[in-house]
Amino acid sequence: MAQLHWTLFPSSSLLLLLCLLPLLHASTGDSDPIYRQVSSFSLSNFPWFQACVDQCEKTGCVGKNCFQHCKFSSDGKSIDGPWYLQEPLYLRWKQWDCRSDCRYNCMLAREEEREQLGHKPIKYHGKWPFRRVYGIQEPVAVALSALNLSMQFHGWLSFFILLYYKLPLRSDKRTYYEYTGLWHIYGILSMNSWFWSAVFHSRDVELTEKLDYSSAVALLGFSLILSILRAFNVRDEAARVMVAAPLIAFVTTHILYLNFYKLDYGLNMKVCVAMGVVKLLVWAIWAGITRHPSRWKLWFVVLGVGLAMLLEIYDFPPYQGFVDAHALWHATTIPLSYLWWSFIRDDAEFRTLILLKKIK
Ligand SMILES: [Zn+2]
Repeated sequence: MAQLHWTLFPSSSLLLLLCLLPLLHASTGDSDPIYRQVSSFSLSNFPWFQACVDQCEKTGCVGKNCFQHCKFSSDGKSIDGPWYLQEPLYLRWKQWDCRSDCRYNCMLAREEEREQLGHKPIKYHGKWPFRRVYGIQEPVAVALSALNLSMQFHGWLSFFILLYYKLPLRSDKRTYYEYTGLWHIYGILSMNSWFWSAVFHSRDVELTEKLDYSSAVALLGFSLILSILRAFNVRDEAARVMVAAPLIAFVTTHILYLNFYKLDYGLNMKVCVAMGVVKLLVWAIWAGITRHPSRWKLWFVVLGVGLAMLLEIYDFPPYQGFVDAHALWHATTIPLSYLWWSFIRDDAEFRTLILLKKIK
């Protein structure tokens, strides 16, 4: 459920960026497209940062700090390391790492200066200035993603044990519960999503970003399908395909668009918010009208997820360089996932008992 990463970038900052873009571009003469994403720079500090990064990429140092990733000579060949590592691909990574180190250290230097002048933190490349720990970009978000992952695993495993070891099975060893397979897929997609969320927060490059976004969109799309199937009690295979097919086609197209055409944060946010809101509404309305014995859990989760969304909207800078709104949002999803899987287990038990009664 890293689906709200996008609110870190776009909306208001996207508009601001669109206005500033020509100015920024003209003021620096830089053709690096990444700099076009910069959203919260004031014009006065932008050239300073650019100059710092440029200088650092040449010398490999910011002030007294020098970085080993920047040790390549001007003719494009690596100075150190064995010959088999001196390939262009390796060098590209090295150059990339050098740039990343430079940006990070220029940002730290700039933030220190600003703090002394009594200014509040600003965003760099659309992201808050986080302090790295052992090279991990956002250690708190990584730890919370890992906790979320383990919570999903725990939930899925307890669901599995309940269905196959505690509740009675049909004569062909299938479960009575009609949504078993769907929740298995849900469990796998959410564990996959939290795994890539942890990777993305530890190292933010294009590949990890795309993997994280794609898994989050896949999870969100599938949960939407699942909410409709469960709330409307769709048990017939053909009807399930009718609901799922157009949504799967839409989500697949969107993921392909993001990965191979354009990583459009604004569009992605709209798609995710739309799917998320519809999903929450389906669950909320169902929770309102159903006689399900565990409907209060549904209410709690819908309310909790809704409130947690506010954390992403009221984005604030990381406290001490570590805990920002997005990290807190990842913290809130831990108890919510626990309650959610508890509802899923209740639902499995509830449906199984109903079906057993019918048979008798
Ligand atoms: Zn995240």
